[in-house]
Amino acid sequence: MSSWRRYPCCVMPMKAVLDTSAVLSMAHQSFDGYCIPPGVMAEAGRELEYALHAGLRVLHPEPESMEAVRKAAASTGDLPSLSHTDVEVLALAHTLGIPVATDDYAIQNTAERLGVGYIPVAQKPIKDRIVWVYWCTGCGKTLSSHMPECPVCGSPVRRVPGKKTRLRKPPQPRP
Ligand SMILES: [Zn+2]
Repeated sequence: MSSWRRYPCCVMPMKAVLDTSAVLSMAHQSFDGYCIPPGVMAEAGRELEYALHAGLRVLHPEPESMEAVRKAAASTGDLPSLSHTDVEVLALAHTLGIPVATDDYAIQNTAERLGVGYIPVAQKPIKDRIVWVYWCTGCGKTLSSHMPECPVCGSPVRRVPGKKTRLRKPPQPRP
């Protein structure tokens, strides 16, 4: 194939490959130096437009790297847990010799076996919006606001998570 595919690092040194959730949760101002394989682009969809304008590159892993990832994942038992896109993410990191930014355990575990570095996604946004409720540890009464002790029985009041609202649907792969 063309040389830019084989040597994409000539233009700018790449820092890390991002998996789909890493792209969606990145708090970076700039995506310069970060890249994704085509599968992540398909999964992330419209959410990605901003990232592409902010410097994110789409690069193709080498077929040999795809094979190396499948072998490594088969040996760790992670292969059934990895999507085609996950394999691409690892393969691109293998091709470029750079780490993967991911919180996916199966990807991290395979990266270890493959000798590819990985970076946990440090700044994740909250996944759920939590409505906290106050609850009496004595009589079990639910209170609408915090108070040092239960107005009914005088026991300590504790804050517990009530309703959780998912903030963003996980991306669906295209058929
Ligand atoms: Zn009480």
